[in-house]
Parts: sequence; C-alpha cells; structure tokens
Amino acid sequence: MCEECMSHALATVYGEEQARWYFSPHAHDHEAFLAALDKETEYGSQYEILNAVNPGKYGIEWVKKVVQGGRTAQVVTLEEAIELLRIAAETNQGEDFRCINVSCICKRTRGGDISEPVCMTSLHRLKPEDPQDKEGYRAGRRVFKTGEQETFYEFDAADSDKMRELLLDFEKRLGLVHTVFTIGFPRIITLCNCEMPYCHSMRQRFLYDIPEAFVEGYYVASVNNDRCTGCGKCQQQCNFGAIRLDRALKTVTTMLTRCMGCGICRSVCPTDAIEMVERKKVTLLPAREPVGLQKLRKESVEKGAKK
Ligand code: SF4
Ligand code: SF4
Repeated sequence: MCEECMSHALATVYGEEQARWYFSPHAHDHEAFLAALDKETEYGSQYEILNAVNPGKYGIEWVKKVVQGGRTAQVVTLEEAIELLRIAAETNQGEDFRCINVSCICKRTRGGDISEPVCMTSLHRLKPEDPQDKEGYRAGRRVFKTGEQETFYEFDAADSDKMRELLLDFEKRLGLVHTVFTIGFPRIITLCNCEMPYCHSMRQRFLYDIPEAFVEGYYVASVNNDRCTGCGKCQQQCNFGAIRLDRALKTVTTMLTRCMGCGICRSVCPTDAIEMVERKKVTLLPAREPVGLQKLRKESVEKGAKK
C-alpha cells in the first residue's frame, strides 16, 4: 500500500493528525484510560513495574512484555506538550478538567531529588464527585498511590501561557525532557518531565536495549552555526550526548541518530541558534513509532485493504 493510502487508512483511526497520535482525543479519553489502567494492573502495581528494571526481581523479558502491552514513552517538544495539554483539556471540557503535578515516580524509585513536583499526571478529568483524599488525589490517586506522597498541586492544563512558563522552567533550570507516557497505548497517563539516569523509560532503551520503551520525537535539533558562539551550553544540557562542540571553530554538530528531539538544548542557547525541525525533512531515518501505533497502523491498513 502506498504512503498516501496508508495515511488515508490511518486517518480513519486518528483523523488528519494521525501521525501525532498524542494529539488525538482518543489518547485523552478518561473512561478508556481507566479501563486501560484496570487491565494493566494485571501486571502489578505501577511501583513494581517501574522497579522491574532494577537488578533482580522481574528481569528484562518481563519488562519487554509490559512495553509490548502498550506501555511506552515518546519524546515531545515544548510546543507539542502545550498543545497536547490543551487537547486533553478540550477533550474533557465541562468535566472539571484538572491535572495534578506530583513528584517523579522514577526518581522516587531510584533515589533522585523529589522535592519538586515535575510529573504531570492524570491528563484526564477529575470528576467533581470523585472523592478527594487528604492529599488531593482523585482520579490520579489510583495511579500513583505508591507510597508517601510529597508535594503536589493541581493545575489548569488549558492555561497555555502558564503551561509554557512551567515547562520551560523544567527544561532550562532542571534539564528535563518532556515525554508522553502511555499505559494500554494510546491512553496517556502522564506528561513526564524526566532525565537520565532516573527515567525508567530512558533506562529501558539506553541501558537495557528496549528501544520501543522510549521513542524519539518527530523533531530534531538543527543548529545555525552562523549564530553559534561555541559556549557549549547546549552540549551540557543534552541528556543523550547528541551534540558535539568544536571549540576551535566555535561550532556545534547535532548527531541526528542520537538526537531524541526534546528541544531542551534550544531553551538554553543564548543566541537562539537552535531550532527544532521535522525529523523526516532532514534525515532519511524517520522517527520510530511506539509499539501500539505500529499495531494500529497494521490494523488500520488491513481494514482499509478490505474495503
Ligand atoms: S540535541 Fe539533545 S537536547 Fe537537543 S533536541 Fe536533540 S536530544 Fe534534545
Ligand atoms: S548553546 Fe547555542 S551558542 Fe552555545 S554552543 Fe550551543 S548552539 Fe552554540
């Protein structure tokens, strides 16, 4: 089937923005999310799953099975993160849509700094009638009830200006990468803001060779070396060793096969020398697709072929 036909077939599932599955309202549907959550807890608690890549208990094959079951993370840029939050809010409009920020579960399980709530969880409506425990948890409490809760707060995901300010702060000050994280793909459970060496999804890809667990984004960083002063800030910010600095020439090179497309190098560049460009336009290597999207693509193509 040609690319055009494939796109058409996929559009029946995801609409015109099918390539960006996280922009689909399907990915933000609250009831489907809760159903996926119930299904996934068959694997064990969130805490157990995230601990599974620590040496010992479950082993890599088990983690691979969980990933294949639809637990995957994909990198998104700042702009995409803001847009998907807006879509999540729009999808659940009129339903008292709120998100909550909690401390990062990856850091909790790996002993990182959890003093700041950087994990945006429950991208779903919190029903006004949902009981709220003393920590403020409603829909999200089932997901992250994994022990002591520290700082958290609710935020209005529809407030794009506020979201930009918050996410940019995570990028610049904390060096955190934004990812959408699913259970039962394409149900988004969190907009994660995490980093090496704590993020379990990153670890699963880079330390345990499970690339489907942490998927590159649809963009890559492109540097305009006419503007570059060779300060090296972008290189220090990159979690993935994707930037090489030539101090003599005062130029940098992005290694496209390593660039995950997070854009956090851009946020620290003092001369605006970095822009994010679509991966497919600058490299012959397209972004990998999450396992769940591969499956949906196959099913949708098969359905299209039968018509
Ligand atoms: S070069 Fe590094 S920091 Fe910049 S977008 Fe790519 S992965 Fe992210
Ligand atoms: S941060 Fe900007 S100016 Fe500094 S080395 Fe990177 S691209 Fe060049």
